[in-house]
Amino acid sequence: TVRTRFAPSPTGFIHLGNIRSALYPWAFARANNGTFILRIEDTDLERSTQAAVDVILEGMQWLGLSHDEGPFYQMQRVDRYKEVLAQMLEQGLAYRCYMSSAELDALRERQMAAKQKPRYDGTWRPEPGKTLPPVPEGVLPVIRFRGPVGGSVSWDDKVKGRIEFSNDELDDLIIARPDGTPTYNFCVVVDDIDMGITHVIRGDDHVNNTPRQIHVFRALGKEPPVYAHLPTVLNEQGEKMSKRNGAKPVTQYRDEGFLADAMVNYLARLGWSHGDEEIFSREQFLQWFNLDHLGKSAGQYDETKLRWVNAQHIKRTADAVLAPLVTEQLGKRGIEVPEGFPLEAAIALFKDRCSTTVEIADWLSMYFVDAQPAEQELAQHVTPAVVPALATLRERLLALPAWDKASIAGALKATLAEHGLKMPQLAIPVRLLVCGRAQTPSVDAVLEIFSKEKVAERLQSSAK
Ligand code: GLU
Repeated sequence: TVRTRFAPSPTGFIHLGNIRSALYPWAFARANNGTFILRIEDTDLERSTQAAVDVILEGMQWLGLSHDEGPFYQMQRVDRYKEVLAQMLEQGLAYRCYMSSAELDALRERQMAAKQKPRYDGTWRPEPGKTLPPVPEGVLPVIRFRGPVGGSVSWDDKVKGRIEFSNDELDDLIIARPDGTPTYNFCVVVDDIDMGITHVIRGDDHVNNTPRQIHVFRALGKEPPVYAHLPTVLNEQGEKMSKRNGAKPVTQYRDEGFLADAMVNYLARLGWSHGDEEIFSREQFLQWFNLDHLGKSAGQYDETKLRWVNAQHIKRTADAVLAPLVTEQLGKRGIEVPEGFPLEAAIALFKDRCSTTVEIADWLSMYFVDAQPAEQELAQHVTPAVVPALATLRERLLALPAWDKASIAGALKATLAEHGLKMPQLAIPVRLLVCGRAQTPSVDAVLEIFSKEKVAERLQSSAK
């Protein structure tokens, strides 16, 4: 069975480029009835923060990328890593190296001078028949993995195809520091083994780690998982997306009015495709997703496209589902939607012109905040010729036995006939006075959402 993981380092707020490395392993697990594991790689104590962990957890919850196991924290597994280190020393799979950093520097300089690639020379590596140097006093050793000599290591990457490294390029990997703490590439392998990971789907910045990790797997008697290394996500300037060049934390998109399903759709397409399909639901995505259609070239973030995708999802999302999201956006502006307000009807009226729930809230604000049309527009459209017609309309509206779109349309028509006006001559002033803007969906539909009294009150202001 399939077991995948997302293994973020909480050293910064995760952005869209990072979260895509969660989406694919999540989708692959879901599509194959597998298990998706969340592992927080927090061993970089200086740079890891709780706030970054929170954004990871919140972001994944918002996007619906639920994990089945975890979150596991590497800092809580240190005893386990040390246990494996001890076992590897015992079995001769690893050895203590007492070369001091000064000696290592000197070695590197000699190699550079001789135009060789700097690499550890194996001084402390035990070999049959070899006598190791005497252990120096007062030097804390690192532990090195006893890597294979000669030959090569390769794997069939699900994205990049066959990748091969010559073993001579890889010197003996340090798996524990002088203070005994295990190093990154080692912890990853212990975790991937303990967690039974079958497919590692991650950013291609880890391609160079993979041959080393494969060797550690094999030394520990395990076959490595299947690897899929995803190409980078570029920002709009074509640079690698990173928080340093302005990438937003993933949770900010929620605040800006993007829908989780639209984000999943957009992110899915940023490195994977299903024919020409651009807009799809989460369910469709899970039905279609496989590792064979991961793209080989870097995806580029495009906010205009993201907004378009979000707009498509808003159109397709039920008003009842949008209602709490719009309520939240209105709440952020201090607007509390009163009991009895036809929120879903209001959303239905405006959503087709909106690309975020923030924009829906912008429109709906007119129902709760007094209209403040620009003076100049008022002067232009609420002319002395129109004022009497507005008074007539107000009377007719107040006299309506029923408050619905058809009745409102009737009152508008009757007023036009009585005053010899054309629709825009009346509709624009009404919009300005009641809605605060000259352009809206059809006036009768917009007015219907207001109470009759509110419309009368705002029309009254023209008499001033
Ligand atoms: N912690 C690593 C990172 O954030 C990912 C490691 C992995 O997926 O193997 O880049």
